[in-house]
Amino acid sequence: MTFYQIQGQKKDKIAVGKLICLARTYVKHAQEMNTTPPLEPVLFLKPESAVIFSGDSILLPKQSQNVHHEVELGVIIGKQGKNVSTEEAMDYVFGYCIALDITARDIQSQAKQKGWPWSIAKGFDTFAPISKVIPKQFIKDPHNLIFSLMINGEQRQQATTKDLLFSIPEIIAYISSIMTLKQGDLIMTGTPEGVGELHEGDTIEAHLEDYVTLKIEVKKP
Ligand code: MG
Repeated sequence: MTFYQIQGQKKDKIAVGKLICLARTYVKHAQEMNTTPPLEPVLFLKPESAVIFSGDSILLPKQSQNVHHEVELGVIIGKQGKNVSTEEAMDYVFGYCIALDITARDIQSQAKQKGWPWSIAKGFDTFAPISKVIPKQFIKDPHNLIFSLMINGEQRQQATTKDLLFSIPEIIAYISSIMTLKQGDLIMTGTPEGVGELHEGDTIEAHLEDYVTLKIEVKKP
């Protein structure tokens, strides 16, 4: 089992559950991928075995020549829920983190062309780096947060969660109309524009304002 690292708390132990990811939730990223934003959330899953933490390394898989970074706001679920209403949805949130949806873009492009799922492109070990979790009581408005990603000290992505196409309650209501949400599940809310390639030796630093920093190296296995 993998447990979250929780900012300022040693006693809480929450195991990482399923990773539910959204695609195309920022208009400019949909545009840079030559697609249009969807009318309802587009979901895919990543395995829990992909999770790593600050100080760990992304291992570039030999099956891909083009691995991309995507920085995203992560929402950690605090209690079990099915068919959760938007009004009640925030009661199901435990906290927030900064998360990277690492993607083998070449494998994903092939899958898109062939109409295949994205599980391989998104599912390699180390493809889900996540920061410490900020319990929700410390974040005033999750829909007004600036987050960013730097590579080797150079900024590549920066956005505000104001531009998310779906609110966090809408996302929780939608997902829980399909699959039961459980404590420890992580929702990766999608990436803004500026995605790009990672190279061996890169140092990634991602920030959720001043709340938390995620530092990750890029290596070959
Ligand atoms: Mg993503």
